[in-house]
Amino acid sequence: MQIVGYRRRTAPDETAALLVAGGDVSDGERAEVERLALAPGTDLAYTLSERHCAGVVTDGRHQPCAAPRAPYCEAHTVPWAAANNADSREEHAVYLAAFAPDAFKVGVTRSWRLETRLREQGADRAAHVHTVSNGRTAREVESDIAATVGDSVRVATKIEGLDREVDEVAWSDLLADFRVIETFAFDYGLDLDRRPVPETMLTGAVRGTKSRALVLDRAGTTYAVDMRDLVGYDLRPGADDREVQASLTGF
Ligand SMILES: [Zn+2]
Repeated sequence: MQIVGYRRRTAPDETAALLVAGGDVSDGERAEVERLALAPGTDLAYTLSERHCAGVVTDGRHQPCAAPRAPYCEAHTVPWAAANNADSREEHAVYLAAFAPDAFKVGVTRSWRLETRLREQGADRAAHVHTVSNGRTAREVESDIAATVGDSVRVATKIEGLDREVDEVAWSDLLADFRVIETFAFDYGLDLDRRPVPETMLTGAVRGTKSRALVLDRAGTTYAVDMRDLVGYDLRPGADDREVQASLTGF
């Protein structure tokens, strides 16, 4: 069984999931893809073994690949631009997003998808600041704003801020320069009182997810796993027995 992808939580009534498939690399059979749901409270007990290319999923079936590069080999890496519908004639929203405590970015999405997009990225706060008639114009506006605000926030930065609140002063200062159409505030239910320890593992009780971060409780310590770092691993049932770094209680 291999982790071949993941689905971030994009609505309050959804759960995130890992996509797993049991195809055997040696015979190249196409196996059905199953969802391993990451609902809060789920006890996970898997050991990560070998990691290799996650292959490709089409029509719900997985084509395995033995190439050593993970999560994807060169043949199975989808160019980011191909997934990016820059010429869309649909109405687009330009938004600012805040990640605790003070990482901010500008982004664009089709208007109807705004709230979904913000949750998918794990934004703590957001503001819709422009509505434009197509994707091209949206990207021009985005590019202007990105020169000062930036247009990306790294997953590691998001994980570092998981236990933090948004810096209200910095966020208000940023918004003061824009005509705000609507604001958003999100709660991912993680309820953390200290920063989780970054790890790559799949053993523990699910506390919740926020964008690509899977938060697990294990033996009194809370860990944050970037789901993308799991993609490509073969799984064995049963808790791993390795030593994981415990939280630095008292620091
Ligand atoms: Zn491959």
